[in-house]
Amino acid sequence: MRENSATTAKQRSGLLSVVLPAYNEEATLFKTAKVIPSILDAAGIPFEIVFVSDGSKDGTWDEICAAAAGDPRIRGVRFSRNFGKEAAVFAGLAQAKGECTAVMDCDLQHPPEKLIEMYRLWQQGYDVVEGVKKDRGRESALHSFAAKAFYKIISSATGIDMSNASDFKLLDRNVVNALLNMNEKHAFFRALSSWVGFRTIAVPFEVHEREAGSSKWSTKSLIRYAVFNITSFTTLPMQIVTWLGIIMFILMILQGIDSLRSYILGRSVPGATTIILLLLFIGSIVMMSLGVIGYYIARIYEEVLGRPRYIIAQRTENTAAGAAAAGHDTASAGPAVSGNSAAGGKTAAPKERSPYEN
Ligand code: UDP
Ligand code: MG
Repeated sequence: MRENSATTAKQRSGLLSVVLPAYNEEATLFKTAKVIPSILDAAGIPFEIVFVSDGSKDGTWDEICAAAAGDPRIRGVRFSRNFGKEAAVFAGLAQAKGECTAVMDCDLQHPPEKLIEMYRLWQQGYDVVEGVKKDRGRESALHSFAAKAFYKIISSATGIDMSNASDFKLLDRNVVNALLNMNEKHAFFRALSSWVGFRTIAVPFEVHEREAGSSKWSTKSLIRYAVFNITSFTTLPMQIVTWLGIIMFILMILQGIDSLRSYILGRSVPGATTIILLLLFIGSIVMMSLGVIGYYIARIYEEVLGRPRYIIAQRTENTAAGAAAAGHDTASAGPAVSGNSAAGGKTAAPKERSPYEN
């Protein structure tokens, strides 16, 4: 940290926002809302907690309201439906008021004690403090293979080793603003927070066992997540399609020369098997290629539609606990980011509320 002497001399300080996406987490929420404040209070770190209920169908929202009523430093928003963890993280970032913001899972699998170390590193001048998994916890062989393949593709696309990356991160206000200023609707938080650059440091942590409840990811949702994020970070699959086409073309020329030679030499063309195999092969490649292109077109379509990332149905400030606040139950949308990006090296702060918000 030698190069950082200027910043270390004058340590940063300020409010830490802790963003917690929560989907059907009623079993863990109460404990989480108790543990994090006690740890941060003991360390003397000023904080606020922002829960985002991602369309939970259980008592998560009631738990959040109860926690907010008991501690003014706890707030929460409720999505109108399940928009996915990425959307919940971005909603939390948009709500966060801190000088720095930490994002972590609601199930205490990300150790909250690490927040202290991460905050101290931020104070020393680091803008992105990344939680890196020491091990990936217990996973099946197939899951672990699929995860490795996914991170290999993402790592080569971003040029950053993401094999043990997690969503457990602490970001400086500038980084949060940079992320909120991004136009893409389907942002991949884990990769984007590395992609933006800034002074980064990794903090290894052990993935705890889930406190209660079950993982919210099914195999289907994990595959969807992988395809989504690969297509949002790299066009490599489309390039592979081109290469496959070229390889097929060369093979067809070779096959053509061979057939012609057989014809000239008066030999009968070998059986129909080759032709059938070739037809099947070409057919499958063409269909796969169309599928890949289809994914990208679907992504373009979604971006062009310009729908908000999420819709907020309710805020804790607007519930009975915060009776004074008017506008109960107003539907408001996530930041339809204006896209006015960095000016003169410093990122412009995004608008507090989008034009869609009331
Ligand atoms: N989560 C969410 N929306 C979803 C799925 C998950 O907000 O659609 C939250 C969930 O409540 C938890 C975090 O994302 O706080 C991580 O989810 P989970 O623990 O199920 O994932 P795992 O730890 O098994 O990877
Ligand atoms: Mg978990």
